[in-house]
Amino acid sequence: MRLSLLGLLACPECGGDLAFESLPQLPAPRDDVREGLLACRACRARYPIEDGVPRLRPRAPAAARVEKTRRGFGWEWLRYPGSRPADEAVFLEETMLPRDAPAGKLVLDAGCGMGRYSAVARALGAEVVAVDMAEGLRRVAEAAREDPRLHAVEADLLHPPFKPGVFDIVYSQGVLHHTADTRAAFFAVAPLVKRGGLLTVWLYGKAGKFADFATNPLRPGKEWIASRRRLAWAVVGARHAFSDFLRFFTTRLPVPLVYALCYPLTLLGAVPGLKYLTFSVDPDFQARLIENFDWISPPFQWHHTKEELAEWFREAGFTPLRVLAHGLVPKPGILGRREK
Ligand SMILES: [Zn+2]
Repeated sequence: MRLSLLGLLACPECGGDLAFESLPQLPAPRDDVREGLLACRACRARYPIEDGVPRLRPRAPAAARVEKTRRGFGWEWLRYPGSRPADEAVFLEETMLPRDAPAGKLVLDAGCGMGRYSAVARALGAEVVAVDMAEGLRRVAEAAREDPRLHAVEADLLHPPFKPGVFDIVYSQGVLHHTADTRAAFFAVAPLVKRGGLLTVWLYGKAGKFADFATNPLRPGKEWIASRRRLAWAVVGARHAFSDFLRFFTTRLPVPLVYALCYPLTLLGAVPGLKYLTFSVDPDFQARLIENFDWISPPFQWHHTKEELAEWFREAGFTPLRVLAHGLVPKPGILGRREK
């Protein structure tokens, strides 16, 4: 952890300023503090810095389902292949950010996993603060050791340990629906954006009301869905019901067993036709395995519509600028600018 990060941080319990404790002398701006202690000047809560990562989750023990979500994602991201050539294209498509937007900006990666999109934002010229509560963060911390403009912070997105209005851009890609309360996480993260800054979020979608589903923006080449909207709506609803049924069991099993069960699912993912019964059709076996695990393992997995998300953006003082286009399964995503 570098000194330049300290001014952005706030106590996750009370919002107070944090200061280094038990350091013989204040580090130089480019020094990386590997081990130490941060203390809140207001409530006196203390947070350790371990392996260069400030661990800034609230002190109360997490609920069992939160802890299981944390363990599952740690398991997943420590096994994920690593950065892939398609990451930049996926990042730009999903965040809807112009390619030159991150350059020179302070950016928060809200739910970074093993840091594949933090790496993209860094390559596009941003200074990046990457937060997560799971152990995949260790891979980001390793990269941050050599990179003074990349910071890894362990945090709970329901209690983000930052001062309000400090980031030019905040993005959260497929993450907030894995917290205990998606809406609460959205309203915890949105105030971290500066006035005039950008927030971009996408969530897992659901069929929702047909009138809303019928106006979902579709990617080019998906015209066949547009001409069969009602059938597509029914298929999405059925797929969701099947997923809920499967997850009723898998979210109650131990993480290693769920991972083992993903192997047959992943083999099926290479079979033409049948592959659509699984939760990933990625050509890479390891990526497919991880994506299936990502779907059936986390205890928290909420689904939302673009109407819900748009309402949250407006309520938080943002003007929606762009809405994410997608295929059959809705993927509500919005890029918005903070107005007040
Ligand atoms: Zn405090």
